[in-house]
Amino acid sequence: MTKLVIVGGGHAAAQAVTTLRQKKFEDEVTLVSDEPVVPYQRPPLSKLYLAGEIGPERMAILREQAYEAAGVTLKLGRRATRIDRAHKSIELSDGTSLAYDKLVLATGGHARRLTCPGHDLSGLHYVRTMADTDAMRAEFMQADKLVVIGGGYIGLETAAVARKLGKQVTVLEAADRILQRVVAPEVSACYQAIHEAEGVSVHTRQMVTAIEGRDGHVAAVLTADGGRYEADIVVAGIGLVANADLAAAAGLDVHPMGIIVDAQCRTSDADIYAVGDVTWHHNALYGRDMRLESVQNAVDQAKVAVEHILGEDVSYNALPWFWSDQYGLKLQIAGLSEGYDTLVARGDAAGRSVAFFYLKAGKLIAADCVGRIPEFMGAKKLIAEQVPVSAEQLADESRPFKEIVADLTLPAGGA
Ligand code: NAP
Repeated sequence: MTKLVIVGGGHAAAQAVTTLRQKKFEDEVTLVSDEPVVPYQRPPLSKLYLAGEIGPERMAILREQAYEAAGVTLKLGRRATRIDRAHKSIELSDGTSLAYDKLVLATGGHARRLTCPGHDLSGLHYVRTMADTDAMRAEFMQADKLVVIGGGYIGLETAAVARKLGKQVTVLEAADRILQRVVAPEVSACYQAIHEAEGVSVHTRQMVTAIEGRDGHVAAVLTADGGRYEADIVVAGIGLVANADLAAAAGLDVHPMGIIVDAQCRTSDADIYAVGDVTWHHNALYGRDMRLESVQNAVDQAKVAVEHILGEDVSYNALPWFWSDQYGLKLQIAGLSEGYDTLVARGDAAGRSVAFFYLKAGKLIAADCVGRIPEFMGAKKLIAEQVPVSAEQLADESRPFKEIVADLTLPAGGA
């Protein structure tokens, strides 16, 4: 009887359970999460769930009964505090311990916190958990003036929800453009134009130096160049910090970005796996080590880890992709654009229907697609198959994209 313990309560943990069910694993499985609820969808936290358009009942990835039906013991609302590798057990915050044969760390990450003066005022919020969004919703709904710190996914999605509710919204980004971590300057410009057209005031190169308070509550955000932005509520989305401390304290190999895993998602201890946002792993397609903060990576790695535990000969070999919903518009990103030598656009950025393709040495390495689903689907195929392609072929709007992809990916000699 194998004892499998999963630590974590996000998409990766839920996928590990799903894969175990699909593979009809019948041994002992325990899921430990410090959150009081079963793993839930995180993407709606800065969108529909924040807006109150969907309630908690729509958030669970698998209903509680599904865990029961699969024979999974849930230990919610308690943290794993220590891994005792010598005895193959983990200690929990409730003072109990759990033995494991195989351990899966799906501990994810937490929102990076501001440390400037005023960081402890009420009215400053982060968005990572259901509890975070629950804690801010009433205040968010009532506020007239929202200042968002960080022009990444959290910041921009929150800004879009707030504008839909008619609030005055300011976005302060430290870098010289929004979304700079994930897209090229052209796409940043396209998204800045969209936010400005929707009425958001976007300020880049803004280093926040302090949050000014009134009666213990946020009143304004101050920046290094003397800016002062009044706020009833402040939301900071300034990045993710991997929850790798548990692994590090147990002596597992850990990189500053996350827990180091191999192609089977094994850590430096062959009986301990790590999956999802918390991992620092190698991507064969791009030939480098990376951390991927995405639902899709959490799902892909959890499948690999579980299948490997079950004795299958599997390796992680996924093409990264991401998406973001803002103002009813879908941004879909296939691949990673770093290192591109040619950028070509297909469509009309001003009309909010455009795909940006990134080429390197005559092959597609990434695509950022705004309201362009066929281009996103086709780009995934072109990147994965690494077929030679030209900027002209990709930009040719006289032909449907699907047709272009079909021609380019024809099997040799086929017709
Ligand atoms: P993010 O995407 O890393 O963006 C954070 C942004 O804030 C970066 O542009 C960063 O610039 C900037 N920043 C950092 N410190 C700042 C400061 N003191 N003042 C102003 N700007 C500052 O992180 P996030 O938006 O907080 O999201 C957190 C996590 O949730 C990520 O893993 C993200 O992928 C995930 N998430 C994903 C989605 C989605 O895929 N649609 C939606 C929501 C959340 P620098 O890079 O220069 O530091």
